[in-house]
Amino acid sequence: MNRRDGKRGICGETDLLRVAWAGLHFGEEPPVTGKRGSGTVFFTGCTLGCSFCQNYQISQTGLGGGVSVSELTEMMLGLERQGAENINLVTGTHFVPHIVMALGDAKRKGLAVPVVWNTSGYENGETLKLLEEHIDVYLTDMKCVDSSLSAGLMRARDYPEVSIDAIDTMVGQKRLKIVDGRIEEGVILRHLFLPWAPENTVKFLRLFRKRWYGKALLSLMFQYIPPSHLEGKEELRERVHKNQEERIIRLLDELGIEEGLIHDVEEDNSWEPDFLRNPPFPASLSRTVWHYRGSQRANRIV
Ligand code: SF4
Repeated sequence: MNRRDGKRGICGETDLLRVAWAGLHFGEEPPVTGKRGSGTVFFTGCTLGCSFCQNYQISQTGLGGGVSVSELTEMMLGLERQGAENINLVTGTHFVPHIVMALGDAKRKGLAVPVVWNTSGYENGETLKLLEEHIDVYLTDMKCVDSSLSAGLMRARDYPEVSIDAIDTMVGQKRLKIVDGRIEEGVILRHLFLPWAPENTVKFLRLFRKRWYGKALLSLMFQYIPPSHLEGKEELRERVHKNQEERIIRLLDELGIEEGLIHDVEEDNSWEPDFLRNPPFPASLSRTVWHYRGSQRANRIV
């Protein structure tokens, strides 16, 4: 698809850079959040389109406003001025050319904090090569290891093999460096436990132990709660049971995985973002620097 001609790619976007929200976020992994919060920028659109996406409003319904490259540069510098520990670029794969230009400008203007590429893991080698000199930390998902699962949950049946190659490249580029509890460089590998597919996590952990343990920091997440937009999709409406989490923790012991981060089971949806709201996250977890509804130009974008 030639997005430069104004056509929309599978990500839902043209070549117009769009952002939904930028602000300090205090709900990321502790080495990313640090004490002063992570400077997150949430881009509109996504290449994968997962059916259970908690950011569905922006990844699949197009909420967001158009910004120029120089506005993105100013957003990043503004986040750093507000005290951000890092710049955390969330699902920006389809805007890599714009982001690389903005990062180059921001660094020339003095941006000094680490840059985090917060990604689904569905990245090709060419993209990662382009990002290598601009990015310090990869905060990547590894959602599933079976194509039978990826085929039903997202647009990319080949997600498992593409993400495995991508993570190999990421750990080859960045060595884990955590100083005073804050990540300065390296790979954090996120995996979300899906209550209806527990064997997916068993297979993922075996793969992680064999391939990436010691090279990437594991972030294992049990907070899955069916997002509000899932009405009607009964198979995705299951919740995580405490005994499922306990079984996986026993498996960590059996596999000898001693280091990593665990996000516990959540009781309710109170943390679920609503990007129509400002801030989209609970106020205790976020502070706005930019919201698409405050942008004049946002009104022109559908
Ligand atoms: S990759 Fe992430 S942002 Fe994109 S649809 Fe899946 S969960 Fe949502």
